[in-house]
Amino acid sequence: MDSSALRKLLKLQEADMRSKDMETRLETLPKEMNNLIAQRDKIAAGTAAAVTVVKKIKLRIQQDEDLIAELESASEKLRQQSAMVKKNNEYQAMLNAIELNKKKISEAEERILAAADELAEAKKSGAKIKFANDAEIKNLRVEFEELFNFSKVVKEEIAKLKAERPDLIRDIPPVLLSAYESLRTNKEGAPPLVTADNEICGHCRLKITAQTAVAIKRGEIAHCDNCQFLLYDPESLQS
Ligand SMILES: [Zn+2]
Repeated sequence: MDSSALRKLLKLQEADMRSKDMETRLETLPKEMNNLIAQRDKIAAGTAAAVTVVKKIKLRIQQDEDLIAELESASEKLRQQSAMVKKNNEYQAMLNAIELNKKKISEAEERILAAADELAEAKKSGAKIKFANDAEIKNLRVEFEELFNFSKVVKEEIAKLKAERPDLIRDIPPVLLSAYESLRTNKEGAPPLVTADNEICGHCRLKITAQTAVAIKRGEIAHCDNCQFLLYDPESLQS
C-alpha cells in the first residue's frame, strides 16, 4: 500500500502535537509571570519595611528633641518667674519643677543617644537589604521579560502551525482524517496515531488482534480493536 497517506497523517500529527504543547506552555505562562510579580512585590515590601524602621527611629529622636526644647523653654520661664516670687514655698516649687525638667531632659538625651546608635545600625542594615533586594528585583525583571518574549515566540509558532494546517490536511483521505480528528480531542491529549510494537497497542497497551496486526503489516492504518486509536507499522514507511 502507498504510504503517502500515513506519512501525511504523521506529519499532521507532529504539527498538532507541537501546537498542543505550545498551547499548554502558553497556559502556564500567566501563572509563572504572576508568581514573579508576587515575588517582586514581596521583596519591595521588605525594602519598604527597612525604610520604615529608619523613619520610626528618626521620628522618636525628633519627638525627644522637641520634648527637650519644650522642657528647656518651660524651665527658662520658671527661672524668670522665680526671680519675681516672694514666697519661699512657691520659689521652692519652681526649683523643684526645674529640677524635674532637668531630669526629664537628661532621660530624653539618653534615649536620643541610644536611638542614634540604633539609627546607624538600621541605616546600615537597610542599605544592605536595599542593595540585595534591588539586585533580586532586577533579576526578576529579566526573568519576567524573558517569559514575556517567550510567550510572543510561542504565540507566533502557534499561529504559524495553524496557518500551515490546511496544507497538511490536504490530500489526506477524508475517512482517515475524520477518524484522526475525532481522536485528536481526547482528554489526555494523546496522539491519535500510534505504533503497535510487539502487537501491543501504543495507546491502550492491550494486545491487538491478529487481523489488525496483519493489516498494519500490510501498511494499512487500522483501528485498535480495543481503544479505537489509529495503529500503523513504522516499517511500512520504509517501502
Ligand atoms: Zn488500543
